Amino acid sequence: MTENDDLKYACCFCKDTVSADERSHELDPCALLLIGHFDRSNNQQKEQQFFCHFICFRELVNDDGLLYIAEPGFPTVSEVIEDYSEE
Ligand SMILES: [Zn+2]
Repeated sequence: MTENDDLKYACCFCKDTVSADERSHELDPCALLLIGHFDRSNNQQKEQQFFCHFICFRELVNDDGLLYIAEPGFPTVSEVIEDYSEE
């Protein structure tokens, strides 16, 4: 996905707009990927993407300390790929 501050989505939890220019958290807008049949092989699974505010998702999961993604040093996808390619 390319960066585009004009893109607006509806948060699947609060139904308000979630967009880069109306950030309520630095990670907004966020997307959630729901994978059905996760116990099956990749080509048998079904996927649907949802959008949300980070704070709405954090509230849903009761911020149980597992949201490492919000920590300052959490790597971007390209940083993870670089790490794997160096091994
Ligand atoms: Zn929301």
